[in-house]
Amino acid sequence: MRKDDGAATTSAELRAHNLARLLRAIHDGGGQLTRAELTRQLSLARGTATVLVRDLAGRGLIEELTSPVDATVQRARGRPTGVPSAHARGPVALAVDLRDDSFTVAAFELTGRCTVLDRQERDAGSGTGMLGDVADRLNIRSRQFGGRVVGVGIAVPSPVRRGTMVQPTLPEWQDVDVAAVLGSAASPGPGPTGWVLTGNDATLAGLAEARRGVLRGVSVALHLHVATGIGGVLLADGLPVTGAHGSAGEFGHMPLTGGDEPCRCGSVGCWELDAGARGVLRAAGQAEQGDRMVQAEQVIAAAATDPRCGRALTHAAKALGRGIGALVNAQDPDAVGLSGLAAEMYQAAPDSVTAGYLSGLMRFRRADPPALRPSTLGDLGALTGASELVFDAFLTPRGLGTWQSPAQKTA
Ligand SMILES: [Zn+2]
Repeated sequence: MRKDDGAATTSAELRAHNLARLLRAIHDGGGQLTRAELTRQLSLARGTATVLVRDLAGRGLIEELTSPVDATVQRARGRPTGVPSAHARGPVALAVDLRDDSFTVAAFELTGRCTVLDRQERDAGSGTGMLGDVADRLNIRSRQFGGRVVGVGIAVPSPVRRGTMVQPTLPEWQDVDVAAVLGSAASPGPGPTGWVLTGNDATLAGLAEARRGVLRGVSVALHLHVATGIGGVLLADGLPVTGAHGSAGEFGHMPLTGGDEPCRCGSVGCWELDAGARGVLRAAGQAEQGDRMVQAEQVIAAAATDPRCGRALTHAAKALGRGIGALVNAQDPDAVGLSGLAAEMYQAAPDSVTAGYLSGLMRFRRADPPALRPSTLGDLGALTGASELVFDAFLTPRGLGTWQSPAQKTA
């Protein structure tokens, strides 16, 4: 998803290219790296870095703060080095985590700092009505941020092909192009890429781990997000491998644990029937009522004290592990990220997940299996990934060319 803007040929292009690279490095570093560290990381001349930082600050994109370690560094080298950070009135990405029963809207600053703005349940309303509510919230929030909003990223609960939800959990959303629906409803900002960008929620959860979470710096990573279903993504050098049409990673719809029951997806024996929220509930002998995720979390929480819940957790955790083993055989990742119920199951029953995992691995992999890493981003995974879609588009020479600082306009 990160676009290469090609070789810069003129000095103006070279400068635009370097500005985008530097801003990208500030973004990736979460606003924690000093100017000296960024200069080294990007192999820039010190004078060039100084000019670029001044240029970005002048455009209202960053502010250079004084580093807490500055005093010693300055004493040692005799010159100051600040920490380029998000400008107080700099660019903002709005992100939406769309679920079939609720939605969340959050704002992300350039350096990844997140503020959750709205959470709303669907209650008895229609899915179409809820998309209208999302559009209303985006409209209000983008007006509040003035010209600072550079784009909106939407995480959706469906495989996505060219922006369209091709098999959503809510039948009303079949073939809905969320970006088109929300793009026409929300007032257009200065965003460089058509304002609204869409991605599958589990894919974006994986992207978030690669950029800000437990898969950071991992060259080939597999991420699995377990909710009612199981989705995920393979990431190569931090970039999602999403297939020819953007809809890869539907790992929950593979027969990894050997059943032959029909699945809601149209296939049979799918992994999610054993290792997803439904699998947890079925193993616990519970009928599905209301929010399956909440119900499954209650089973996991009760596992230590209620023997039936304990057996259900063991069963689902082993099924989770076996499927992970099969996927590791197929994909050969360096590490596996786990989020949603997968992280909760692993934390509650690490031995069962590991036993299933090792039993599903080919023998030669067992001595040194890729580590399982539970996410620490919690509910913010899909939102964070959605914001990264926006910054991937913005942190390019073309994207930065669209930026007009609200700070400058009012100056
Ligand atoms: Zn299925």
